[in-house]
Amino acid sequence: MAQSSIEWTEMTWNPTTGCDKLSAGCKFCYAEVMTKRLQAMGLEKYSAGFRSIRTHEAELTRPYEWMKPRKVFVNSMSDLFHEDVPLDFIQRVFGTMNDCPQHQFQVLTKRAELLEQYSPTLSWSPNIWMGVSVEDHRVQFRIDHLRRCGAHVKFLSLEPLLGPLPDLDLEGIHWVIVGGESGRKPRPMQQEWVEDIRQQCLRAGVAFFFKQWGGINKKAAGRTLNGRTYDAMPLVACH
Ligand code: SF4
Repeated sequence: MAQSSIEWTEMTWNPTTGCDKLSAGCKFCYAEVMTKRLQAMGLEKYSAGFRSIRTHEAELTRPYEWMKPRKVFVNSMSDLFHEDVPLDFIQRVFGTMNDCPQHQFQVLTKRAELLEQYSPTLSWSPNIWMGVSVEDHRVQFRIDHLRRCGAHVKFLSLEPLLGPLPDLDLEGIHWVIVGGESGRKPRPMQQEWVEDIRQQCLRAGVAFFFKQWGGINKKAAGRTLNGRTYDAMPLVACH
């Protein structure tokens, strides 16, 4: 587990590592860059490189050790629903999350078809927030797969936002995160795309979180929109 600088979470937890690229949002994959760095530093967990999908047994017990309740981003270094991750390992990851209701686990995938396919075999405790990434209209179909999964809390990560999304179907969605791309060659995000998504969330009663403008200097670009920040989180009932 590592502390995270990601604005909408507190910690990351990576029971699997490795991935491969699937769609336009993967172009400047953070996990790939970080894996290369950690591999060069000699960390065994990343020694096989980014293209090698690995499961890590020892990680399954980690959340039991965290005393303070946390928001935990699951798999910042891979995609839990990658086709090479065995279903029984995913079920064990869910078992750990089921056993730790004090933590909120935020799972994010681009493999939305497998998410829907596996969903009936997974145990969806209310502390599991399930999200899909949607970077442009070509992958908007992922939202339909998410809608049909068994999660109690469902969210969208529209990051890096690469184009307008004027007709989002937000039925059954609780939270939307929007962010622009950062790095050395970021693809620009238009303010009107962001504002349009915010308005759609407002109309649908969905929590809206604006993460960042991105760009070469993401700190300088900041994260204000209309002169303020938007940090809404989904409303979660106490159980
Ligand atoms: S799905 Fe996620 S982890 Fe995998 S290559 Fe794409 S951005 Fe990277």
